[in-house]
Amino acid sequence: MGYLARFDDPTGERFGIPTYNFGSAPKGLCTRRQLAAKGLTRGRQPIAAQIKWRRGRRVAYLYREDLARPKRPATDAQLAALLKAHVAQCICPTCGTEYGYYIPRSLGECLTCHEGAAR
Ligand SMILES: [Zn+2]
Repeated sequence: MGYLARFDDPTGERFGIPTYNFGSAPKGLCTRRQLAAKGLTRGRQPIAAQIKWRRGRRVAYLYREDLARPKRPATDAQLAALLKAHVAQCICPTCGTEYGYYIPRSLGECLTCHEGAAR
């Protein structure tokens, strides 16, 4: 077994998951960094394989590019929607007062209104 073949284990027989030498991973498998460079994230897929180098002391996990998801950074519109939803949960539907905390869902209104209604 030559040096280059040392960590070659495409079936995962020895290492538990398919293992390749650095630089010899099959096409379609990418590290997280390689996916990120293509604007992708691993999504919810499990680790597909690993590459080893430096006598096996360095390991990087590989993911399938075809299962990767496009990375979607939160846009201003999405952030605004989140903020709006956040604010909406702080506004009492009964009296319309905006609070610095969420209106308790169990009450459905602010404590003042709830106490007023209970009285
Ligand atoms: Zn209220």
